[in-house]
Amino acid sequence: MIERLTVLYELQLIDDQLDELEELRGDLPAAVNELTSQIETLQQQVEEKEAEKKKSLSKRKENDNEVERLKASLKKFKSQLYQVRNNKEYDALTKEIDHSEEQIKKLDAESIALEDLIQKLKNEIDELEPQIEALQKDLKEKETELKQIIKANEREEAKLLDKREKIAAKVKKPDYNTYMRIRKALNGKAVVTINRSACSGCHNVVPPQRQIEIRQSKRIFSCESCGRILVSSEIAEEAKKKLDL
Ligand SMILES: [Zn+2]
Repeated sequence: MIERLTVLYELQLIDDQLDELEELRGDLPAAVNELTSQIETLQQQVEEKEAEKKKSLSKRKENDNEVERLKASLKKFKSQLYQVRNNKEYDALTKEIDHSEEQIKKLDAESIALEDLIQKLKNEIDELEPQIEALQKDLKEKETELKQIIKANEREEAKLLDKREKIAAKVKKPDYNTYMRIRKALNGKAVVTINRSACSGCHNVVPPQRQIEIRQSKRIFSCESCGRILVSSEIAEEAKKKLDL
């Protein structure tokens, strides 16, 4: 049991050191993620607007062609007006003329609306692009900074990870799972010692009888307040010695 507890505390000590390295990175990793997703969102908006602009441009072009065609046939109808032989033909022709004129008017109005839309989209894209550029610049700076920090600690981190792997292999699987669960839930510290009769994780007093039991290291005890695994200072010392700290 002593070995089982010691190795758990060793794992904690290694993770403490890894956490310290992680802390050096500060909020840079989160900032990089946030910037990356912001850029993606804006780029997507630009893409959508570009697609809509393209569609509007081609629709307007289509309208222009249609108006050209209608104007040509209108000209033809009007010239035919002079050659009508009866009222029926005249009526049919004026009906065609009216219809064409209406169509032209409708298409022209549509083209004006499309032109407004195209201009609006263009303005919006023009506004988004410098925003994206600014974010990309910021992202690049933060990435460089983060890379430098990671690079500076690369060797130490690799050494720690290597040690961690060896220690983790010695931890019993259920213990490891418990350890990781607590570590995740309580921000890093899963195994703690008793300091001045209190759990050094949550600072709540550990009952005297429990303290004695913990010192005996006959089984795994958890803090009644925070749930962290409690080990005696002897176990902690032993772990430190093994890790050469
Ligand atoms: Zn506690």
